[in-house]
Amino acid sequence: MQTHNLIDGAWVGASDGATLRVTNPARDEVIAEVASVGAAETRSAIDAAWRARESWAAKTAGERGGLLSALAGLMRRDTDRLAALMTAEQGKPLAEARGEIAYAASFLSWAAEEGKRLTGDIIPASAPDKRILVLRQPVGVTGIITPWNFPAAMITRKLGPALAAGCTVVIKPAELTPLSALAIGELACEAGIPDGVVNIVTGDAATIGDALFDDDRVRKLSFTGSTRVGQLLMSKASEHLLRLSLELGGHAPFLVFDDADVGKAVAAAVACKFRNAGQTCICANRFYVQDGVYDEFVAGFTEAVSKLTVGDGAHEGVDIGPLINDAAVEKVESHVEDARSHGATVPVGGDRVHPKGLANRFYAPTLVEGMTPDMKLASEETFGPVAPVARFTAEREAIELANASEYGLAAYYFTRDASRLMRVAEALEYGIVGANDGGPSTAQAPFGGVKHSGFGREGGKYAMDEYTEIKYVSWQL
Ligand code: NAP
Repeated sequence: MQTHNLIDGAWVGASDGATLRVTNPARDEVIAEVASVGAAETRSAIDAAWRARESWAAKTAGERGGLLSALAGLMRRDTDRLAALMTAEQGKPLAEARGEIAYAASFLSWAAEEGKRLTGDIIPASAPDKRILVLRQPVGVTGIITPWNFPAAMITRKLGPALAAGCTVVIKPAELTPLSALAIGELACEAGIPDGVVNIVTGDAATIGDALFDDDRVRKLSFTGSTRVGQLLMSKASEHLLRLSLELGGHAPFLVFDDADVGKAVAAAVACKFRNAGQTCICANRFYVQDGVYDEFVAGFTEAVSKLTVGDGAHEGVDIGPLINDAAVEKVESHVEDARSHGATVPVGGDRVHPKGLANRFYAPTLVEGMTPDMKLASEETFGPVAPVARFTAEREAIELANASEYGLAAYYFTRDASRLMRVAEALEYGIVGANDGGPSTAQAPFGGVKHSGFGREGGKYAMDEYTEIKYVSWQL
């Protein structure tokens, strides 16, 4: 298990020997101590990325793509090892961790090919002796800051297009899940990606973040995490006019209309809500169900939720692992208690569960009925295995409820009416809309939000825009 940082192709510890502990959230056991570096080491990483940028950008897209494909192949080869590491540091069930490794590798594979299609333009000029050329060039050294809930995929979703476009990177993974990031760094070395192209630093977030901001050689920061930290980074970025992409929090509504296939809606609701114990930025956070199918949907949902098993994600067959830390469990508890105090009922779950020999960090898969707009569940990102449900009567009412949020990442709805399908898709103020689909994430599609869920898109051809500058060359013959 790698615990040092990757700087200029070498594995190094903190200059003062400082470390930070990585804990298995299911067992509350320390599983590793990784380097905790500061501003000086971060500057060394930027130095390395700066030195490597010209030769990396000078490679052909095919050469860069070949190296990215090699990295994707190594991740697939090592799926079981990487998944076990992820489950140990993050808690998600092994099957989900394996799925995340496949998903993470798919971004590298996609970007490896897409880099070859990064074209410019030649625009007809307004004078006979002029030519107008538009070039797309790499942004340059890019800072990447990622969260703990998807320790591999949130990195590769940025790393793939950044490298394919010809950028070099300094990655700062979340303090809670650095091991997956460092393991990807090892595979990047094995794949033959040149020294300095990929650098990974772990340590105090604000210190590393400030070192990235304070260095004019860093030309872009791509961040995935909470809206609160995104806002902080945006205010810092404004001082340096640093280019930003922000993938922030979500509060996804899930609408079920009278004309929906209710069985399909229930299956999607369970998968969408309870993946990663509800700790997913696009997971459904609030359910609105039309009067005509309300009872049928709630009965099916209740039955399905009651069957979910809770335990250590390292054990095959477990559906719901631990929450990431104590604060996360306390937040979920406070949301459910708040709902109860406002008159909601809890037909399933509603409390911690205590699997034998494990940490006190497991919350039962929970259904809450009678959600009202004044409840925290209706307005805040819960980030836990809790599904609050409310009724609605009219389509317009459902859209207003769905849009009544500062967030705008993902929204879902279920209907078999073709006109409604298009009408609702257009009316939802969200960057990602699942129409009869609870799992829209895929490497070739644009992923990202509006409003307080941030800006910028990851995935597919759209991601390449985030890592390229457009240069206009006016050429007089
Ligand atoms: P977070 O607290 O915002 O942390 C995200 C990253 O930012 C971590 O690496 C963190 O480092 C770092 N960070 C914190 N303060 C910083 C600072 N002052 N300067 C520089 N970096 C700083 O978010 P989280 O709790 O890890 O992740 C959960 C959130 O991410 C949820 O809101 C979720 O919705 C969102 N998310 C969004 C997407 C999307 O695509 N839109 C995807 C996944 C998750 P430390 O860990 O070291 O504190």
